[in-house]
Amino acid sequence: MEKKCVALMSGGVDSALAAKLMLDQGIEVYGLYLSMSWGCCEKEKAQASAQQLGIPLMVLGVGDAYLDVIRSPKYGYGSGMNPCVDCRIYMFRIAKRYMEEVGAGFIVTGEVLGQRPMSQRRQPLETIEADSGLEGLLLRPLSAQRLEPTLPERLGVVDRARLLGLEGRGRHEQIARARTEGITGYSTPAGGCLLTDGHFAAKTKDLFAHVERPTTKDMELLTLGRHFRTRGGTKIILGRNELENLMLEGHAQDGYTCLRPKFAAPSALIAGTWTEDARGLAVSLIVQHTKPEKLPAATLEFWVTPPPVAAANGGAATDAAGPSGQRTGGGVNGSPWSVDRAAVRMAADGAVTDVTQPAEAPVST
Ligand code: SF4
Repeated sequence: MEKKCVALMSGGVDSALAAKLMLDQGIEVYGLYLSMSWGCCEKEKAQASAQQLGIPLMVLGVGDAYLDVIRSPKYGYGSGMNPCVDCRIYMFRIAKRYMEEVGAGFIVTGEVLGQRPMSQRRQPLETIEADSGLEGLLLRPLSAQRLEPTLPERLGVVDRARLLGLEGRGRHEQIARARTEGITGYSTPAGGCLLTDGHFAAKTKDLFAHVERPTTKDMELLTLGRHFRTRGGTKIILGRNELENLMLEGHAQDGYTCLRPKFAAPSALIAGTWTEDARGLAVSLIVQHTKPEKLPAATLEFWVTPPPVAAANGGAATDAAGPSGQRTGGGVNGSPWSVDRAAVRMAADGAVTDVTQPAEAPVST
């Protein structure tokens, strides 16, 4: 077996330390960072760690296929919508392909026995190893002395005596060792994965309940704004600050329409068909979430981005945009549109639901 491994890097202290333990034994290390574009771990921290350790780092996105893991995990969810065991299996399968591509002999991770309740107990660690096709090839240097020897240890490629026997949730020892080794700049353990967050989990659950094939863009949008679902199934997202308003407008394309007020108020991104009903509910939500003194007395003016195509959806948008082809607004390419304030109807009870509420844990394992 080659003295060469792939080390999964998360940006945290554990993975940096695991990679360092390999380097200390003269083992060549290829770093791998698997990125979820909606936020988990920290790419910049992983890049900084790799640079500090002097190892190459490959950054790969998990891709839309990962969404099937969230939709129906074989081993269930943790406290939110986090399918940790299936997630690790998915990631290790990618890591295995990268290991084969670079001609490495095994994979290294910073996992610590007992550190995470769902995926880092002894049984799940074994399940993850077996289901990812890496039996004997998955080395956890921080807890190795408490686990069965892996193939590189048995072959003498890795000196087991120089590995650690850590267990439990505390990170004092890792932090002390990192200080001694000069490892700095890693992310804090509190960073964590958004799928474990109750509010994010509620939005994720709602997304999967309404969209058959969500995309990573749909997941990225869950990190922005306040989310509402209309009775008809349309999603409306309101910006919570000016930056989010701009970002929502940036997402306005291919099935997403942004209604950006010309007065000081949140923008609304409508995901799905631009209908009079959806637009009316979006305007009503904007009005509800705007300070009364900021609301114009007579006419509410907006930019609509992208400009709806007249009569493209059964005539629903015929009164929505300005002159055909106009590209003057929203700072980008919106069309002007306005409505009399007196004509705005507040949404009826039950017409829209705020989906930003914590979900009950779907399945706990
Ligand atoms: S916390 Fe998130 S990224 Fe980490 S294993 Fe669980 S689902 Fe995957």
